[in-house]
Amino acid sequence: MECWHCSRPSHGTCRFCGRGVCRDHAQKMPFILEIFKDKEGQNKAVVVDDTLWCGICKPKEAPVVLKDLE
Ligand SMILES: [Zn+2]
Ligand SMILES: [Zn+2]
Repeated sequence: MECWHCSRPSHGTCRFCGRGVCRDHAQKMPFILEIFKDKEGQNKAVVVDDTLWCGICKPKEAPVVLKDLE
C-alpha cells in the first residue's frame, strides 16, 4: 500500500479508516477499543492512546450515543 499523502510506500494503516500512511505523515490519536456499561449503568470506554491516524479522516472524540439500540 502507498501513503495517502505522498504515494511513497506506507509504514502503517490508519486505525480508523484504513488509509495507508508513511512514517512522515502518520499522526496519533486515542482509539476507543471498547465501550461498556459499569454497574451504575454509565457508559465507559477502554481507550488506547497513540493509535496510528492518517490525519484526514475525522474520528469522533467521544462515542456517539446509540439510544435507540437497546
Ligand atoms: Zn507520506
Ligand atoms: Zn484515517
